[in-house]
Amino acid sequence: MTEPIKPRYIRVDDRDNVAIIVNPGGLPAGSVFSSGLTLIEALPEAHKVALVDLNPGDAIVRYGSVIGYAARAIARGAWVPEDAMTSPAPPSLDALPLATATPATLPPLNGYTFQGYRNADGTAGTKNILAISTTVQCVAATVDYAVRRIKNEILPRYPNVDDVIAITHNYGCGVAIQAPGAAIPIRTLRNLSLNPNLGGEPVVVSLGCEKMQPAQMLPSSMLPVLADEPYVVRLQDEEHHGFGDMVAALMEMAESRLERLNRRVRVTCPASDLVVGLQCGGSDAFSGVTANPALGFAADLLVRAGATVIFSEVTEVRDAVHLLTARAANEAVARDLIREMAWYDNYLALGEADRSANPSPGNKKGGLANIVEKALGSVAKAGTSALMAVAAPGERITQKGLVFAATPASDFICGTLQLAASMNMHVFTTGRGTPYGLAMAPVIKVATRTSLAERWHDLIDVDAGRIATGDATIEDVGWEIFRLILKVASGEHVTWADKWGLHNEYALFNPGPVT
Ligand code: CA
Repeated sequence: MTEPIKPRYIRVDDRDNVAIIVNPGGLPAGSVFSSGLTLIEALPEAHKVALVDLNPGDAIVRYGSVIGYAARAIARGAWVPEDAMTSPAPPSLDALPLATATPATLPPLNGYTFQGYRNADGTAGTKNILAISTTVQCVAATVDYAVRRIKNEILPRYPNVDDVIAITHNYGCGVAIQAPGAAIPIRTLRNLSLNPNLGGEPVVVSLGCEKMQPAQMLPSSMLPVLADEPYVVRLQDEEHHGFGDMVAALMEMAESRLERLNRRVRVTCPASDLVVGLQCGGSDAFSGVTANPALGFAADLLVRAGATVIFSEVTEVRDAVHLLTARAANEAVARDLIREMAWYDNYLALGEADRSANPSPGNKKGGLANIVEKALGSVAKAGTSALMAVAAPGERITQKGLVFAATPASDFICGTLQLAASMNMHVFTTGRGTPYGLAMAPVIKVATRTSLAERWHDLIDVDAGRIATGDATIEDVGWEIFRLILKVASGEHVTWADKWGLHNEYALFNPGPVT
């Protein structure tokens, strides 16, 4: 005999007048909740039910904040679909609270370590990777060819090196290299090459005639490990007679790096050496009640352990910016955040787009009505600590604690920019599901609901849906994520994305003109 289904919903805040249906597959009309509420129509899973009678113009409240206004009358127990709501205006950037509610420093969490690779610049890697950087797309196919041969013919002799990767992209020529926007892709490529998981030993491949020259992308002064050693292979140099010579030169330089990288061994590093980038993709209405709050709890643990936690995605925090400027460590940090929001508002305006361009059809099908609701759920993953610093797109981060790195919300661009910011571990929450992964840093994927974690049992690393079913608390899953980060960072546990080798391409953010 199967047990009768117990209708369940989640109400996040006492002020909320809507709640989220938790039961897999949704609920039929007539379902009665333990609160006494009766559904007057069928509701899909993860969508919103009205807890009170709403009149046209009434505020719709979730997370204790207004996510929209009723566009028509909505009865108690009825579905609150996307088209029954109008969106509130975004918070004006001119009248935001500046560091008015800076959280007190969280109590320190001592004694947590991982086994990592110590770098000359003081950072630590969670992987030991040789990366071959490129200045221009023209050389990408040649580098890909050489990397395949290096992996097959040379890498097996250097077992302490985890991988050889090519950092290829479509920038470097045919672009307005002096335009203000060019600074972003150029510094992104520089800082990608300096990621802690790459050991400070890059090889740079240049064509020769391209606009972005190696010294501009990655000056030798930034490579103390290499001292005066050559680090550039230029395909148009006279010494190369044919493709074979180019590949041979590249393989020879790669081998000199592999010899040194192979001598490195994992050593005990404090958890404060972690730089954990947080992101979400394929969000749904559960994101803000399961995976993101659990990740927020883990983020607080990381901050307490002295680590750096990076959150990003400008268009997903824009509508919650008033909560973040208040949380800034000081007024200067709050103003840095406003500067990045204003830059992005302008960028979107130039493209004749606005924040409503963010939620995807999948987000909406997953129960997220608009960007306000999405933003409030997204910010939950940043935990509760003070915002310590703000970085512009592609800038490297050295600050400890919770840091905002301004990026688009696009999964691949955000991931690439977080790697440039020096991320050595990535945690990614998803409701709709994505097989996303990165070659440069491990990606732990957290599902917002158990049905996804079960269906994608060999892609999802953590099931936060147990919070919705009542089988685990936010704290339980937060600790689980924290401990898993330390194990993955130590090489003791391999994420599903790494097991299958699911490594998405680097995607640069280039707001500058293409010529
Ligand atoms: Ca994203």
